Amino acid sequence: AVQAEPVLVAGLIEVCRATIADNTDHLCALDRAIGDGDHGTNMRRGCEAVSAEGESLSSLPFPEAVEKIGLTLVMNVGGAAGPLYGTLLMEIGRELRKSEEKADFSQVLKQAIDAVARRGRAHAGDKTLLDVLYPVHAALAKRSPLGDIARKAERSADRTAAMKAMRGRAAYLGDRSIGHVDPGASSCALLTTAICRYLGE
Ligand code: ADP
Ligand code: MG
Ligand code: MG
Repeated sequence: AVQAEPVLVAGLIEVCRATIADNTDHLCALDRAIGDGDHGTNMRRGCEAVSAEGESLSSLPFPEAVEKIGLTLVMNVGGAAGPLYGTLLMEIGRELRKSEEKADFSQVLKQAIDAVARRGRAHAGDKTLLDVLYPVHAALAKRSPLGDIARKAERSADRTAAMKAMRGRAAYLGDRSIGHVDPGASSCALLTTAICRYLGE
């Protein structure tokens, strides 16, 4: 596993970067409907900053690499998504480092998602990326196959359309946010699907 880590980190960075690059316009369009239209470009900027650090990241132990990716996102992504995705990855890295070998990834992910919720003062059902992250955690905790986790992420993102936004810019729209998929939930589902597909290869 130790030798596979640099390849794993580089591969994950690249699939995430490519997925966001392919979906930048789509994510911006979702954000134009209920926000300020920049979610795709925010995410792309973050992924490009992480890719630029790819070499140095790949030489780090896995937990440190994940933590550093989170920090890079916080520093390079303007807007709400940077600090939120950044917190997610920094916390995953920190928890993995603390728990070392005996890490149960689903517990690590739960701690990190809770940190994102605290950071955004958001809860499940508020129409944010948390509405994908919590179901993904639940699927992981049940040891669902990768394909099922990805499908659950996509379905969960679709379900945010029925929700009224309680946090972030979309919350200013109140009831008018209903009927639109949340951009952060959509990027989270796209990334989850890309990661699951990569890990399944
Ligand atoms: P901004 O809204 O600052 O332009 P982005 O467009 O990049 O930032 O990201 C918007 C996404 O961030 C939303 O679709 C939502 O999923 C997520 N988000 C915004 N505010 C919060 C919050 N307080 N808690 C959790 N998620 C949030
Ligand atoms: Mg925006
Ligand atoms: Mg913005």
